[in-house]
Formats: sequence, C-alpha cells, structure tokens
Amino acid sequence: ATVRDRLSAPGPHVSVEFMPPRDDAEEAVLWDAIRRLEPLRPSFVSVTYGAGGSHRDRTVRVTGRIATQTTLLPVAHLTAVGHTVAELRQIIGSYAAVGVRNILALRGDPPGDPLGTWSTHPGGLTYAAELVALTRSLGDFCVGVAAFPEMHPRSTDPTTDLRNYAAKVSAGAEFAITQMLFSAADWVSLRDRSVAAGVDVPLLPGIMPITSLGRLRRITELSGQAMPVELAERLRAVEGDPAGGRAVGIEHAVDMCRALLDEGAPGLHFYTFNRSRATLEVLGALGLTPAVLRR
Ligand code: FAD
Repeated sequence: ATVRDRLSAPGPHVSVEFMPPRDDAEEAVLWDAIRRLEPLRPSFVSVTYGAGGSHRDRTVRVTGRIATQTTLLPVAHLTAVGHTVAELRQIIGSYAAVGVRNILALRGDPPGDPLGTWSTHPGGLTYAAELVALTRSLGDFCVGVAAFPEMHPRSTDPTTDLRNYAAKVSAGAEFAITQMLFSAADWVSLRDRSVAAGVDVPLLPGIMPITSLGRLRRITELSGQAMPVELAERLRAVEGDPAGGRAVGIEHAVDMCRALLDEGAPGLHFYTFNRSRATLEVLGALGLTPAVLRR
C-alpha cells in the first residue's frame, strides 16, 4: 500500500510520527507507543531520520520492523544532509529491501546548529526536491515532503517558499506534512495559496499539544515561527503546574484539530515523540475512535 492510496480513501486520516530510538530502553518505549496506537489503525506511521551515525541505522531497522511485524504502513523519513548521492541510493535500496515503499524526502539541517550555514556535502544534494526526484527514479516509491505554513526559516518570502514547495511536488511528491502548527488558520492559508498555485496534493497538518511555556519557547526559537500569543498567555497562567499545562495544551490541540477538520484537512498528523497518551487524548476528545477511523 502507499500513502497516496490510503489518503485517497475518505477521511479523516490519522497518522503518527515517531523518532528513532537511541538505545534499547528507548526502543522499548517506542514499541509500547506503537502497540498502544496500532488499534487506531492510523493511515500511516512515519519514522524520522536522525542527525547522524547509528540513529540513522536504527531508522532503517525500526521502519523495516514496523513493515514486517505490525499491521501499520511505515513511512521512512530520509534527509540529504551529510550523504553522497551514492549513499542515498544505497539507503533507499535498503528501504526497498525491507518492504518500505513510502519515503518522506527532506533536506535536513546542518548538524549541531539547525539554523547555521548550509553547505552541500561533496557529491551530495542541496534541496529536498532533488531527493524527491532521486527517490522516484529508483523505484515505485510514494514520496512525501515537508511544508511550512509560516514559511521555512531560510526562505526570504512566502512566495519564494511556496514556489520551492511547488518544485517538490513537480519533482514527484504526492503528499506533504506541515511543520508543527499553532493555528488552523496557518494551514488554511497555505492550502489556499497552494491550490491557487496549482499545487494540490494532500497537505496533512502537523499536530503536537504544547504543554508548557518553556517548550513553546524552544520550539518557536528552533523553527523561526511566531510566538502564538494567546496560547503563550494561557500557558503562562499555569506555569509550574504540569497538570494545568497539559490541560491547556490538549484543549488547544483539540480546538485546532476540530477547526482543521471543519476546513477540510485530509487528516491529522501527530508528532508523538514516541509517546501515545496525548495523541489518544486528543483523538478521544474529537470522537475519533478506532471504530470511526477505518483507515
Ligand atoms: P527544502 O525543501 O530543500 O527547503 C530548504 C530551504 O531551501 C527552504 O528555505 C526552501 O525554500 C529553499 N529552497 C528550496 N529549493 C530551492 C531552490 N531551488 N533555490 C533556492 N532555495 C530553495 N529533519 C530531520 O533531520 N529528520 C527528519 O526526519 C525530519 N522530518 C521532518 C518532517 C516534517 C513534516 C518537517 C516539516 C520537517 C522535518 N525535518 C526533519 C526538518 C527538515 O529537515 C528541515 O526543516 C529542513 O531545514 C528543511 O527541509 P526541507 O525538506 O523542507 O528542505
């Protein structure tokens, strides 16, 4: 199955994102989350690609294990950073070998400092669009890409950002997942601008309940997104109260998901950080139970 096939069925679709575990203990936590989320029958589960070394091997291994040992459809993230084209070809081949046919093609960030100077690896690729084209050229892969409703921090202006997103779709991307959203209006704006520009692949909104002001600050610093003032105020009012922060974060996410689905979002993509609880709570509040989510 491909993500394209899954998303062409009536929604709403739920998908979840995991990170490659760094050691055996983290791997156990990840498998616990996978088993808890599996009954929701998510349309796909994606596994991020680490910044370097052994984590990268674990992405390949974990994704292969999901393909062979669960009922879930895995999507493997792959980044161009630090790789030659020959290495990228080899990794894409190893995904094919373990039955992974869906790949999220990304450029990645410079290791150490995500906002630091980008330099293309000798013999490597410069933009995600090139990785989309490479992956598509190597076999029958369904390829997705990242999209940035508040524009990528390296982009100079929204029009150029949209043109570069469109280039990834022209190169063969068949779906997109957004950066973490703070407001449904940001998704609606990108969806409308994309459709007007003739870019009409499913655009999945990225969801993560933010449960503390500290976390919100770190996320916006790294992503270059504007501080969502109202959410920040609500989190400030419950600083030092973890249960209160959790309640605010979940409620904000539930309201945003409701607005997204009302606006016609094809699904909801949850950044889980390898935990299941927040995703299950949000979906429960939305009434999206396993019986409703038939894939
Ligand atoms: P690109 O699409 O290549 O864009 C990068 C910048 O270059 C943008 O500013 C773009 O506008 C510009 N650009 C593109 N084409 C051109 C051109 N032809 N000329 C001039 N400028 C151009 N990172 C990881 O390390 N591992 C992951 O697993 C991972 N998963 C992610 C999943 C999602 C859903 C998202 C939203 C991000 C993820 N990231 C991940 C982070 C991602 O790697 C970074 O955000 C990275 O900085 C941008 O990647 P991209 O694929 O969007 O790059």
